[in-house]
Amino acid sequence: MEKRKYYQEEIETMPLEQLQKLQSEKLVKQVKHVYENLPYYRGLMEKKGVTPDDIHGIEDLYKLPFIEKSDLRECYPDGMRAMPLSECVRIQSTSGTTGKRVIAYYTQQDIDLWEDCCARAIIAAGADKEDVVQVSYGYGLFTGGPGLNGGSHKVGSLTLPMSSGNTERQLQFMLDMKATVLCCTPSYAAYLGESLKEQGYTPDQIPLKAGIFGAEPWTQEMRRSIEQTLGIKAYDIYGLTELSGPGVSFECSEQNGMHINEDHFIAEIINPDTGEVLPEGEKGELVFTALDKQAFPVLRYRTRDICVLSRKKCSCGRTHIRMAKPMGRSDDMMIIRGVNVFPSQIEAVLLAEGFSENYLIKLGRENNSDTFDVYVELRPEQFDDSVKNITAMEKSLAGAMRNMIGIGPAVHLVPPKTIQRSEGKAKRVIDERKLHD
Ligand code: ADP
Ligand code: ZN
Repeated sequence: MEKRKYYQEEIETMPLEQLQKLQSEKLVKQVKHVYENLPYYRGLMEKKGVTPDDIHGIEDLYKLPFIEKSDLRECYPDGMRAMPLSECVRIQSTSGTTGKRVIAYYTQQDIDLWEDCCARAIIAAGADKEDVVQVSYGYGLFTGGPGLNGGSHKVGSLTLPMSSGNTERQLQFMLDMKATVLCCTPSYAAYLGESLKEQGYTPDQIPLKAGIFGAEPWTQEMRRSIEQTLGIKAYDIYGLTELSGPGVSFECSEQNGMHINEDHFIAEIINPDTGEVLPEGEKGELVFTALDKQAFPVLRYRTRDICVLSRKKCSCGRTHIRMAKPMGRSDDMMIIRGVNVFPSQIEAVLLAEGFSENYLIKLGRENNSDTFDVYVELRPEQFDDSVKNITAMEKSLAGAMRNMIGIGPAVHLVPPKTIQRSEGKAKRVIDERKLHD
């Protein structure tokens, strides 16, 4: 039987004009819903002098006020709930990576549409009902586990609700149940791959054929490394709790940017400093308007994720716009001795130079200047080298980083398995400067 190419073909391949008409119709309705049911956002609209009557379609989107994470935090716990409790069936919450958690509410319809988005991602990764989908994202308040779990059910795949952690059990179930698709954070996928390699498994002995990895930034180098170790194709998936969870966008067979589910979300790129909307192809902050969300409907939500959009035609046949890999949020960016540095830049150099993806950045302050240390784990085969070799490797790696980012860290190569592994979102930076302020 021929493989299913799309989960919802008509929507996923809808001609642009029709798609934008659909967005316009939904937007007009959604603005009314928000205005009538969210006093907080109505207040923002009033401040800007906008009413629902000013919004006739997507061309009027720019008139609406932005909403930011600080607004959502101010609304904690339920100031952003736009439906009566009797209509809400679940909450989820952010990981709190950058501060106080945000609580998101869902109606049954919200859950259904979210799971459809995840089902689109699973089909796009080449899976269908014959597949065994191992969901190793955390379950619970975190959206990763529940989202992919629901998507896998919708596709009709056999779902292994593993949640994260307990690596021995993960591997045992993967091998015994012959899991073909793995869903987890890229850092956890790398860790599972490393553990399998240690136990002597070669890629052809691992049943997996694809992975759906997201929830944190990861580089192309990391993708290649995971693909090789596990013998799979690794697909990116993006999302955030404020917009339901994973599945806002996902990669297709082209593995070149993630299609945003534009029937549910309008994406804009803005200049983060001025709020000005930038043309397609320019780099800036990603802003989303949710068109169908009932219980937690955000309009023009500023994600702080920095990326680029592209309408370039895709060979998979999907018409929805693609977003590049966000290489970190504006608040992941470190300013070290005045230079802007993203952890993902460090990761790219490490992997390109043949080192492992296990690293930790430490920032401190000494004599009124920033200290910048990068701890990198040696691969087992590198560990036998002499001290002289290690020192030379540290120097050359520091040089490669200086070339890439403009300033050179002190590199410390440490023995294998000495940097803590992550089962969820990896923590790559310890900034001690904040403690001394
Ligand atoms: P928190 O903001 O507390 O981490 P979430 O768990 O909702 O809460 O995380 C959403 C964020 O995770 C996104 O805004 C983005 O920064 C990051 N993220 C999610 N998926 C990806 C991905 N595929 N690539 C890069 N970053 C991602
Ligand atoms: Zn595509």
